[in-house]
Amino acid sequence: MSTKTIEEKQYLVRFKADHKSHLTIIDHDICLTQCPDKLCTLFCPGEVYKWEGKRMQVGYEGCHECGSCRIGCPTQNIKWEYPKGGYGVIFRLA
Ligand code: SF4
Ligand code: SF4
Repeated sequence: MSTKTIEEKQYLVRFKADHKSHLTIIDHDICLTQCPDKLCTLFCPGEVYKWEGKRMQVGYEGCHECGSCRIGCPTQNIKWEYPKGGYGVIFRLA
């Protein structure tokens, strides 16, 4: 049995993105003033969050739906919902 690295497993993940984000930053000023380490850019496995100077960009299309941002954001500043039915991440095990 072969053992795959995380990077190899990532290639098996597919996404069907909705046109509307299921992730919302509630208040960008909170990210700017109350979260110096921009923690979501560190814990999100999908690298969804990118800090662009004064604002958090959210690449929701690459979300793995792990739910970490619901508990990982220290100020509960991320509104998180499951993508609409039929959209979102598709995991393959092969
Ligand atoms: Fe903003 Fe929360 Fe991300 Fe911190 S972890 S930058 S408060 S969304
Ligand atoms: Fe990133 Fe997981 Fe949150 Fe999706 S649910 S944005 S993959 S931390």
